Order: sequence, then structure tokens, then C-alpha cells
Amino acid sequence: MKSILACLTLACCLVACQPPASDATPRATWSLAIHGGAGHFGEEDLTPVQQQAYNASLDAALSWGQTQLDRGVSAVDVVEGVVRLMEDDSLFNAGRGAVFTSGGSHELDASIADGASRNCGAVTGLQGYRHPISVARAVMDSSEHVFFSGHGAGVFASRQGAEPAASSWFGTDKAYQRYRRAAERAGDEPVPLDEKRGTVGCVARDMQGNLAAATSTGGMTYKRHGRIGDSPIVGAGTWADNRTCAISATGWGEYFIRTGVAQDIHGRMLHGGQSLQEACESTIFDEMGALGGDGGVVAVDAHGRVALVFNSTGMFRATATKREGNDVLRDVAMFGPYAP
Ligand code: ASP
Repeated sequence: MKSILACLTLACCLVACQPPASDATPRATWSLAIHGGAGHFGEEDLTPVQQQAYNASLDAALSWGQTQLDRGVSAVDVVEGVVRLMEDDSLFNAGRGAVFTSGGSHELDASIADGASRNCGAVTGLQGYRHPISVARAVMDSSEHVFFSGHGAGVFASRQGAEPAASSWFGTDKAYQRYRRAAERAGDEPVPLDEKRGTVGCVARDMQGNLAAATSTGGMTYKRHGRIGDSPIVGAGTWADNRTCAISATGWGEYFIRTGVAQDIHGRMLHGGQSLQEACESTIFDEMGALGGDGGVVAVDAHGRVALVFNSTGMFRATATKREGNDVLRDVAMFGPYAP
């Protein structure tokens, strides 16, 4: 009798000691997701050569980040480094290749968030610096503030020794042609949907379990002087909190601000118990999308699970995950339709 009881007790204990189902999935050693902008484009809008170029750029940024995470580099250093690479890539609307404002200049926005410290840094309307994301990082690391704008952002960047760049560095022919088309077509109308592509962003979970996110953009083609989108707004375009997730957004910024996309996803997870995937879909489709906005997010949670969710027809995106004892899983994609 005693031995039966002992067996029962042991069995109960074994059941009670099992980790919850969600934790039973092998933890990701590290995870990485990047985007290069979302918009209303499909396979027919890009020539095979253009598709190859985007693919190669996304792949190169992903590979760099993957190598760093595998070496144990922190998530915050990796997201900054990946975004720096993409800021130098003229295919994207960030740093080199940034879109023109209606005044014919470049006003750059960027933000970064560290999920371990829940610190963040951002700049908006920055002019004349090659890597807005590194200026945002300096705001986070080396100032008592979290957000600088316009002239003040430039003064801060200069005092921090940020690398300057002439306006010729930013302006590419592709961005200029878009500007010309917008000017001819619109006067001061909002930019058409098919022109909104190319913001860059990155989220990561490192080997220590820390999360980070970074986003950088030139904003929207022909935006008015002083217009601020979601990308530099922590809570709208960027978020990181080790308890929940790291988010980088891209799309029609006004709608992402109006629905506080990045923080809404975090709140759904923290207070509503939703999974990362559920939270991203609820926010993108039922909140931001329901209001009339379009775009998407790349996201990673504390377990290293990745979500790439968008309601536009396309989003340049790539992801890599390394699970304990397994090979790296990678994917690079551009077009929709969205499928979880
Ligand atoms: N979200 C950016 C903005 O509104 C644009 C984009 O992601 O394409 O400035």
C-alpha cells in the first residue's frame, strides 16, 4: 500500500513539476528579425533584378546580425549594427537613400530601445548625420533625455562626435524621382500608398535573453517640413521590454501613432496575456488597420519567438532563429499575402 502511495505521490510531483506547455518548446538561443519597409507592392512591381537586389541586401544584413548574435554580442548592439548597415544601403529609405521632404531636403528619424534596462533614445528631423540610429543610441546611453528634435538633435549629434554626411550622401536618383513625381502629382497632398517603402528596422533576442529594437527612416516622400512619423516614437514605431517583446514597425506613421502600435502589442501581452502572434495580429488588423492605416511589424518575444505581421500587400522582411541544439532557421521574403 505504502509503495502504491509513494508511486502516486511521485507521479503527481512529476506532473506538477512539468514546465507549462509554452515553455516546453526549446528556447531560442537567439532570434533576429529585420524589415526594409512595407507598402502596396507585389511581385509585378519589382523587376527580377530589383527583387534580387532586395533579397541580397536583406540577406546580407541578416547574416551580419546572425554572426554577431552567435558570438554572444548583445541585442542592443546587434540591432544598432544591422540598422547602420541598412542606413548605408541606398535601396532603403533610411540614411543613404532617404526620401525627400516637400522642401527638397532630408529629415531623418530613428529610435532604439533596450528591453533589459527599458531605456530608449530617439531623434527626429535630424539632418547631416550618416547614422541616425547611432545618434539615437547616444541619446539613450549618454544623455539624461530620451528624445531630441531638429536643430537640437544636430547639436547633440555633433557634441557626441557623430559622423557627419553631406546632403549629396543621402539623395539618390530613385528618391529624387519619387520626389519629382509626388511634386508634380500632388502639390501638398499626402504621399500615395505605392510610394511608401523602405523604412528599416531590426529586433533581436540575444543569448542572454535580452531584447532590443531599432528603427530608422527618412519618413514619407514629400512629407512637410517638421512632420514626425511613428519611427522615432517609442511606443508607436519601436519598443523593447524583456518581460514581453521587442517591436519595430513600418507603414503609414500617422496611423501607427494614433493607435500606439508598439506599446499596444506590449500591453496586450503584459496585461491581456496574449501571445506575441495574437497581440501583433490584433493590433495590426483590429486597431491600426481598422482605422484605415497600413503597414506591419517585426517582433520577437522573451522566448525568442518571432512574428512578422502586416496588412499591406508587401513587407521586405527577413528572420533568423537559432534554437538549442539545432541549426539556424532563416527566411527572407518580400511579398504577401500575409500568412502567420
Ligand atoms: N513609418 C514611416 C513614417 O511614417 C514610413 C514607413 O515606414 O514607410 O515615417
